[in-house]
Amino acid sequence: MKVSVVIPLYNEEENVQELHERLTQSLGAAALDYEIVYVDDGSTDSTFRLVEAIQQRDVRVVALSFRRNFGQTAAFAAGFDYARGDVVVTMDGDLQNDPDDIPKLLGLIGENDIVSGWRKRRQDPFISRRLPSMIANWLISRVTGVPLHDYGCSLKAYRKDVVRNISLYGEMHRFIPAVAKWYGVRIAEVETNHHPRLRGKSKYGISRTVRVVLDLITVKFLLGFSTKPLQFFGPVGLLSSMSGFLISLYLTLGKIFSGRDIGGRPLLLLGVLLIIVGIQFIGMGLLGEMMVRIYHESQNKPIYVVKTVIGHCGGPRDS
Ligand code: UDP
Ligand code: MG
Repeated sequence: MKVSVVIPLYNEEENVQELHERLTQSLGAAALDYEIVYVDDGSTDSTFRLVEAIQQRDVRVVALSFRRNFGQTAAFAAGFDYARGDVVVTMDGDLQNDPDDIPKLLGLIGENDIVSGWRKRRQDPFISRRLPSMIANWLISRVTGVPLHDYGCSLKAYRKDVVRNISLYGEMHRFIPAVAKWYGVRIAEVETNHHPRLRGKSKYGISRTVRVVLDLITVKFLLGFSTKPLQFFGPVGLLSSMSGFLISLYLTLGKIFSGRDIGGRPLLLLGVLLIIVGIQFIGMGLLGEMMVRIYHESQNKPIYVVKTVIGHCGGPRDS
């Protein structure tokens, strides 16, 4: 089993050297067949020069650098693309994750497809980091139905074939377990160490929580309804249009039978609004249905994921 360790680096010049030493120590002690993929996410300091120097000395290192800062998710995605191992381990490049935990994760990857770290004793400020993260973890677990204590922990191990199927956008890397669950993978969680950041600055503030919540909405929608958008928008649209219709009917009957004027009544506005909004929703659902077909049929993307095929066959579309 070959292991690829993927590490995003953004202005981590104070950490690279020690990170590499600690990593090679832990990986060497575990007698693993490994490579380390450093992804420099457009650093403006000397991070990449240091990584280049490390690469010169160590053939097991792959050094990638982005043209600009594309973000941690993009860095992980690039790492997955360039990794040659059967198992990919991701972790932060600031030594907050502990390289010594890697063998523990790999020990569980046999019977699982994803093993996620859990920073049980997380060493970050409470108000600005741990509290929002607790709320986010609770919310993500509830909404996606994949209960994990620590979605935000970068230290995770994945089987390569699992991440190959997943495209990453936005701040999405933390949702890989939730998305992968849709594919039917097995997920385990283990407690890992966590250290305070000793050098360099954290790249994130509280605003990340907002982005995570927005991404959660995307994930939930895509997982639940990406192949049947009308079933998502349709019921809301029908309900809205029907209530609008009933309101308008009530007003019309009142006018016909009791001669009550309609023009100045707020209810009229509500009725019309509900009818229009309802039609919009149904229209959006129908557009969505068309887009689903364009997406899947133009790119030969199946709506299922195959685990094994036994017996001779030419593949679903090659024949
Ligand atoms: N990082 C990155 N690109 C970014 C922001 C961060 O590659 O745009 C890297 C960063 O160098 C570190 C990891 O992602 O290796 C985690 O970042 P950070 O320590 O700032 O996050 P925190 O631990 O505070 O959540
Ligand atoms: Mg950190």
